Amino acid sequence: MRIRHLLILALIFSGHLWAAGGEVDDPVGIAPDRYVYYPGTEPLPEDEIRIIACGTGMPDARRLQASACFLVELGNGDKFVFDLGTGAMRNINSLMIPFEFLTKIFLTHLHTDHWSDLIAMWAGGWTAGRPGPLEVWGPSGTREDMGTKYAVEHMLKAFNWDKMTRSVQITPAAGEIIVHEFDYRGENQVVYEENGVVIRSIPAIHTGDGPVSFILEWAGLKIVIGGDTFPNTWFLKYATDADWVVHEAFMTPEQFVKYYGQPPQLAWRACCAFHTSPQGFGKVMSTIKPRHAVAYHFYTEEIIRYDVYRGIRETYDGPLSLATDMMVWNITKDEITERMGVSPDAAFAVEGPTEQPGPDPTRKSEFTDWTLKARWDEGIQPAQKEMLDRHMEKYGLQDQDWRKEYQK
Ligand SMILES: [Zn+2]
Ligand SMILES: [Zn+2]
Repeated sequence: MRIRHLLILALIFSGHLWAAGGEVDDPVGIAPDRYVYYPGTEPLPEDEIRIIACGTGMPDARRLQASACFLVELGNGDKFVFDLGTGAMRNINSLMIPFEFLTKIFLTHLHTDHWSDLIAMWAGGWTAGRPGPLEVWGPSGTREDMGTKYAVEHMLKAFNWDKMTRSVQITPAAGEIIVHEFDYRGENQVVYEENGVVIRSIPAIHTGDGPVSFILEWAGLKIVIGGDTFPNTWFLKYATDADWVVHEAFMTPEQFVKYYGQPPQLAWRACCAFHTSPQGFGKVMSTIKPRHAVAYHFYTEEIIRYDVYRGIRETYDGPLSLATDMMVWNITKDEITERMGVSPDAAFAVEGPTEQPGPDPTRKSEFTDWTLKARWDEGIQPAQKEMLDRHMEKYGLQDQDWRKEYQK
C-alpha cells in the first residue's frame, strides 16, 4: 500500500473529514496527501503502472517544456522510454533512476523533438554508470536511409570522436546501441514481447511515411502512446478499450500564427493537416473512449491551454489530462490518478546494483605526442600533488595508469 493511501486511511480513522489538501492539526506532524509525486519515494505496487511525462512540448524545447518523452514504469520492474525529445534528459535525470534501468527506448518517429536526446541519454547514462548498451526500437522507412537503424548508426558516426575517446577512458560496452528496426507498415504487430509485456506498433500519418504509435499491454492494462499523426483509422481500430491513451493535440492555427511566428498557411497545415487539432483529438477520444485521455504537444501557457481545452471539449467530454512536463499518472484496474512530479533541479546520478565494467585495456589512447608535449606537468603536478596524494592513499592507488589495474 502506498504512503498516500496510508495517510488517507489514517485521516479517516482519526475522525478527520478527508478533503482535498487535508488538514494538519499537529504542529510537528506531516502534511497530508496532495497533488504531488516525489520521485523515488513510492514503491510501485506490482499490479500498477506509473507514467511520467518527461517532455510534452514543441521542437523548440524550453525550460518549462522539453520535447516529447513518456516514461512508462511497470510494477514488475520494467521501464520503457517512449520518445526522447530535445531536453527530455533533464526531466529523466531529475527522477533519480539508475541508468541501467533506462535502456529500452521506443521511438515513434525520427523528428528531433522525438529522439534528439537519445544522444544525451547515450553519453550521459554512459558516464553516469550504465553498465551496458542502450536498445532502441523504431520504425523502418520507405528507404533504408529513412529508417531508425540508419538514423542511430549515423548518429553514432556523427559522435564518433566522443565515442572513440570516451571508449578509451571507460567501458566501451555502454557506448553501443542495439537497434531493433521494424516495418512501419505493421498493423498491431508485436515489436516487443518479454516478461509478460507486449508492445505493438500501428502506423501513423505524419509528414511522410514511417511514423508509428505504440500499444503496451501488461497485467490486463492497455496503454497507448500516440506518435505525431493526423487522426487515422488504425488508431481508431487498435487503440480502443485502452486504459490510458496519450495523443497529440496541436495548437490552433491562430495560436501558431500568434505565438510561433508561422505564416497562416503553414499554421493551418501544421495544426490540422499532418498533426491533430484539439477538435480532432476530442473526436478521436470520443470514438475510442479510453478510461483516461491525455493531450500533449502544445505550449502549456494558460493563454494557450484554455483554447486547446475548449477545442477538445467541443468533441469529447470524458476523463482528460492536458499534459505538461513532470505530470504523473498512476494506473490500476480500479483507479487512474493524475499528479505533478516534484523533483530537485540538481539531482545526482543514482547508482544501480550492477557495477559498470572497467575500460578495455587493449584500446589505444587517441592522443598523439604532438598534443601531449604541451602538458604543463611541471607547473600543475606540484600544485595538485597534496590533494591527489590524499585520494591515492584513501583508495590505495599507485599511480594514475588504470591499465595496470586491468592488466594484472
Ligand atoms: Zn513529428
Ligand atoms: Zn512532434
